[in-house]
Amino acid sequence: MTENYSVTDIFRLLADDTRVDILRAVAVAQYELEEVGSGSTELAFSEIYDYVEVENTSKLSYHLSELTGTYLRKSDDGYSLTHAGERIVRFILSGNYQQPDSFGPKPVEGVCVFCGEEALEAFLSHQFFRIDCSACEKPVTGQPITPAQVKTHDDNALIQSVKRQSAEVAKQLRIGMCPECGAHLSADIIEVPGNPLPDADSFLVTSTCEECLREYNSPLTYSVVHHPASIAFHWDRGVDVSSQGIWEFNEHLYKGDWTSEQIESNPDEYEVVLRHERDAVRLVLDSTATVIRTERVRRENGEFHRS
Ligand SMILES: [Zn+2]
Ligand SMILES: [Zn+2]
Repeated sequence: MTENYSVTDIFRLLADDTRVDILRAVAVAQYELEEVGSGSTELAFSEIYDYVEVENTSKLSYHLSELTGTYLRKSDDGYSLTHAGERIVRFILSGNYQQPDSFGPKPVEGVCVFCGEEALEAFLSHQFFRIDCSACEKPVTGQPITPAQVKTHDDNALIQSVKRQSAEVAKQLRIGMCPECGAHLSADIIEVPGNPLPDADSFLVTSTCEECLREYNSPLTYSVVHHPASIAFHWDRGVDVSSQGIWEFNEHLYKGDWTSEQIESNPDEYEVVLRHERDAVRLVLDSTATVIRTERVRRENGEFHRS
């Protein structure tokens, strides 16, 4: 049934109060009737009827048949949400179609990657959580957040949630999965001419989703921070990188404690060194930004040795 529908047909199906109510009712009924660990409950026609205000059973039957195939799936046991149904109903329930409340500008810890000043301010710009530097007035970082995320967190909790979210996104990018749609992501390492970032790292990793066209860019050094070798290296030194925001990495790049360089051509290989006092972790990546070797090193008499 779905295969004959165009995208506009699929959205037109939702241009009806009763159908939107049905989807909402299915989610509410599943939430109320599901037992812990039972998985997604399939709802009988009569159960849905109890939850929806609809004139009679034949009306409900008509609307259910319209929704089935795209937003609902029907089996002998009843109805449940499809992937599209899930996405749409969570979108509706969370109110993520509304404009987010305003937030900021609020000072956050960390330094500007361009000028080194402790003058970072977080604020909302459309659907983006943005951090700009009030000293050099450059945009420092930004990531999309949802209106529900803004609505359900106070200022400090929102900043914490953005930090955790950026770590989760980075982990997904590292394994080549699009955080937006789940499709395979391909990554490239590129050298950006006139890159405004500090000389310590002149490479960018760009990850592109060929399906939903989402693109992610990150300095090469930042792209390996959530590799297990780096997480463990920092954890051993009392630093939990997974709880830090991207902007908290800036001081390492600005001071030159984190560096990257190309070490081989054809095939290309790159090395990132993340230093912490006399110790460092060294990660070697291929041209697809995949980490292929790691080692810990220690500086003695100005030279790094394997530790
Ligand atoms: Zn600045
Ligand atoms: Zn995608």
